[in-house]
Amino acid sequence: MSSPPPAAAAEDAAAAERPPSSQQPLPPPGPKNTAPPNTADRHRRRHGLQPPLHPLQLVGWLALAALSTGAFVVQVPALPPAFQPALTAALSAVLLVHLAAHLAAALVDPAEEELRKRRSVEVSQLDRQKHLHAIEQGRCHLCDIWVTGRRTKHCGYCNKCVAGFDHHCKWLNQCVGSRNYAPFVMCVASAMAASATVAALAVAQLVVGRTHAVLVQQDVKVGANSLSRI
Ligand SMILES: [Zn+2]
Ligand SMILES: [Zn+2]
Repeated sequence: MSSPPPAAAAEDAAAAERPPSSQQPLPPPGPKNTAPPNTADRHRRRHGLQPPLHPLQLVGWLALAALSTGAFVVQVPALPPAFQPALTAALSAVLLVHLAAHLAAALVDPAEEELRKRRSVEVSQLDRQKHLHAIEQGRCHLCDIWVTGRRTKHCGYCNKCVAGFDHHCKWLNQCVGSRNYAPFVMCVASAMAASATVAALAVAQLVVGRTHAVLVQQDVKVGANSLSRI
């Protein structure tokens, strides 16, 4: 047939120069690796609780605090005393699981292993004249590392390469990757369980309130009938 085009030949030559290590570069990744939206911030984020915090993160914390306080202070005490210990225990368990999963998902750094070993959090700026994407040919020009998998992406918010990148979660202010995917799923599942519990408590509160009102009405009628007979 024909000889490879010059671009392919150049790629092969570049590949031959790569170091023979466990971080061997991969075949050309997809075109979706993106450069950071804000290249002025040249620092890598380590976890989701470091400043600057994201507004949605604060909204999530406030909503969680308000819902759990309302459940413990208003909803559970409004129900029959016999059910209150079990409901308090169940709600506490769900919220504790959520707190643990939330902290784990936010604090476990999903960055590539080589980045996690580095003390410095300085990140290079992308030279747009030379590179179209942050990751090209298996190398991140911002983190200055060879990435270890096809699913590694350079997150523009965290300014780091994330192994097994899933998405950047604004509620956690942190990337979700292969290292913190399990606590992230647990965080979402426990938040849904907590929301369902609060909703169930609200329904129970309505039912108890309505039943109580009916009983009071019946008592009033019985009392009125007794008085009319006298
Ligand atoms: Zn990177
Ligand atoms: Zn991120």
